[in-house]
Amino acid sequence: MTQHTDVVVIGGGQAGLAAGYHLRRQSLDFVILDAQATPGGAWQHTWNSLRLFSPAAFSSLPGRLMPGQSGEEYPDAGHVVTYLRDYEKRYELPVRRPVRVVGVHDDGRLLHVETDSGTWQARAVISATGTWWRPFLPAVPGRGDFEGRQLHTVQYRRPQDFAGSRVIVVGGGNSGAQIAADLAHDTELIWVTQRPPRYLADNIDGRALFDAATARRRALDEGRTDTGGVASLGDIVAVPPVRAARDAGLLTAAPMFTRLDTHGVRWADGTRTDADAVIWCTGFRPALSHLAPLGLRGRRGHIATEGTRSVQDPRLHLLGYGDWTGPASATLIGVGRPAREAARQIAELLSR
Ligand code: FAD
Repeated sequence: MTQHTDVVVIGGGQAGLAAGYHLRRQSLDFVILDAQATPGGAWQHTWNSLRLFSPAAFSSLPGRLMPGQSGEEYPDAGHVVTYLRDYEKRYELPVRRPVRVVGVHDDGRLLHVETDSGTWQARAVISATGTWWRPFLPAVPGRGDFEGRQLHTVQYRRPQDFAGSRVIVVGGGNSGAQIAADLAHDTELIWVTQRPPRYLADNIDGRALFDAATARRRALDEGRTDTGGVASLGDIVAVPPVRAARDAGLLTAAPMFTRLDTHGVRWADGTRTDADAVIWCTGFRPALSHLAPLGLRGRRGHIATEGTRSVQDPRLHLLGYGDWTGPASATLIGVGRPAREAARQIAELLSR
């Protein structure tokens, strides 16, 4: 069965909902297709102790302030799921789930969005599928030889699953630091990072990241010197559990090992250490395989964008994947602005 609409939004996490909010304001007909069975996007799948790196009021989507979570300055992921569920209900956003998009095709006039529940024909598409679904694992020698447990951030839930084990956590970003802090009390933890951990000053949090990303975009747009953006501030927001573990001396990082072997890792000085588990907190890539039929990937596998709009096909917008689709667009507070601009540009295109 084929259905018709002006715009299909692929993904019903925060980016898809922010797009829906602004498409509604542009009076466009649209549908949001989401592969998850329930609202909340990736936030439904994170580890139990995850804390947002900004207070609630600075983690809001357009139109509705995120309420505070009682007793917590930095809300947990469950609080975000509740907020997103309430958000889509409040604005009566037309989210269909579970509907998985398998491919987007172009007939020269319309875009055909093929799903596991039929096809939608649309005049424009906003892809907002996030990155959680495409975990990145670095090519480290011997990774296939290790006989202990190996998992990525996306599979980690709670320290009890590793109680008494020797666990190696790899990665010097927020996920690595938060998971290392989570494991520091119950396991024999070894935290390894490619370079010494760089904490943001304790008195600044995600708000500063948003400001830094915005200032950088503005400087680049105006032809001024690159300010360095978020990376200039540090890699790790010292949320309370990270700060506590660090200050208790439980978060000392070792430089990266050179390879894995059957039972552990080998270090640059030739020594080795046994380990029961390795947790790779090594990041994500954009989940864009559904766009492959459009053939828009350039050199290095990237789809070129101007803001959120595909340079090659102005009917397609990419939203929420990182600074290359709008400054701080991969954050709750940052996605509103590029979502508004995407909806505005699509309304303009469709009115021609
Ligand atoms: P997602 O939440 O991943 O939503 C995408 C949706 O699209 C999902 O429901 C998915 O199932 C669906 N989908 C994917 N593929 C398809 C398909 N083919 N067809 C249909 N549906 C599909 N940001 C902050 O602002 N503050 C923080 O503190 C913060 N902490 C973070 C901590 C971690 C560990 C991570 C990984 C990210 C964090 N972020 C934070 C960044 C960002 O806010 C989250 O990653 C957020 O989930 C991104 O939202 P999204 O809507 O872009 O993607």
